[in-house]
Amino acid sequence: MLVPVIMHKSEKYRIREKKMLAATRVFFMQNFGCTRKVYNLYTDYLYNELEELGYTGGDVLPDIKLPEVTRFKKEYPYLKRADALGLCNAKQDFEDAIKHFNEDCDHKLYTKRAIRRNESGTEPLSFRGLTGMPKFHSKAQGYFSYTTNCQYPKEGNNLKRATIRLQGNTLYLPKLKDGVELIVHRKLPDNAVIGSVTISMDTDGAFYASIEYSYTVMMEMELRDAAISNNTEAIGSFRFLGLDYSQSDFYVDSEGRKANYPHCYRESEEKLARLQRELSHMVNDSSNYKKQLAKIRKLHVHIRNQRKDFIEKESTRLVSAYDVIVVEDLDLRALGQCLSLGKNLHDNGFGMFRNALARKLEQKGSVLVKIDKWYPSSKTCHCCGTKNDEVTLGVRKWVCQNCGAVLDRDENAAINIKAEGKRIFAEYFAAWLEKDQKARDKAEKLSSARKKKKAA
Ligand SMILES: [Zn+2]
Repeated sequence: MLVPVIMHKSEKYRIREKKMLAATRVFFMQNFGCTRKVYNLYTDYLYNELEELGYTGGDVLPDIKLPEVTRFKKEYPYLKRADALGLCNAKQDFEDAIKHFNEDCDHKLYTKRAIRRNESGTEPLSFRGLTGMPKFHSKAQGYFSYTTNCQYPKEGNNLKRATIRLQGNTLYLPKLKDGVELIVHRKLPDNAVIGSVTISMDTDGAFYASIEYSYTVMMEMELRDAAISNNTEAIGSFRFLGLDYSQSDFYVDSEGRKANYPHCYRESEEKLARLQRELSHMVNDSSNYKKQLAKIRKLHVHIRNQRKDFIEKESTRLVSAYDVIVVEDLDLRALGQCLSLGKNLHDNGFGMFRNALARKLEQKGSVLVKIDKWYPSSKTCHCCGTKNDEVTLGVRKWVCQNCGAVLDRDENAAINIKAEGKRIFAEYFAAWLEKDQKARDKAEKLSSARKKKKAA
């Protein structure tokens, strides 16, 4: 059964810089600068208010009414040259930062930097050094970007009069009449409705446009229906695949196959190590040093792109071949801090891979099942279910004492992960649907509240 579902997606395109007008480049740089300025003005405003109120930490931030962007525009007239929506989004980002501090941080911890500066006597501890406190955005190390929203004419659904339009390969933005040419590697769906666009500049100086859009797809609902009604017969016919994270091979699946992590990617990593070694022998801030740094930044971006390419292709391949994929809910951050495993983990981006799988499975009407991280997947024999506590991280192969099966560590784990995933699939799916519904309800509430506000 096919059911229409509204999907939200984004697509990132590189901007064809050779054809970009000098004025366009200036316009983008102005926007990057102005959004950063607005963010920093809000940070400054907040710090002043907090100082006056005598806030020292330990509690959520007092309720402070932030001034409107227009006030800053009067003070700094050059802000008027930038895209007004971009500046509003900077305010929104700042409000989100405050919300993050209030809701997710513990208001007592200081950052390592603040503690170091306190010990060296450069700056005494204050609320400015609390973890999660909104900070000034630096021009030297900052990420260059600004986001603008698409506005549609009130009457009718006239997409041609929208403020952001993608016509052929040319993207038109507010205040940018000439538009910019994109390298369109993949077309947007015909019924795509653009929500917002983020223009960014990477560390190697390349410009990108990331387009967020929504569109309607007809989705296969059999998986959902079977899961909701807990139809065990139907669930039994689904193609399940278990994946176990493997340090050397990226992953091993429940059929014993290893991911084919391309060798050329390793070569780039070796090259990076060489460049960094060379850099360490150069005089800090000399022109050779700067040249080398530019090379390294370029290679970093290249490696990241190679990795992403692998992850996207591999996840697409798996999602088209299987209905449900099961992984372990590893705490990747904790693993990353564990040195012996860490480097490889950051290198091959297993977290990114899991996200890509989840995204693509959801588009198909399925779900990525994550099983509990304490589930003893590698210690249990998949033939008879005997648990063997002697299997530690270093053991690659072992023999089951009960049934005598010879087990490859990763393959055995993947088979167990698959079985456990199959067992909890229905309940996991139900929980996921509930979460999904809650998110939808929340979004609807927000938009209706906004409409009311507009009407008032
Ligand atoms: Zn056994």
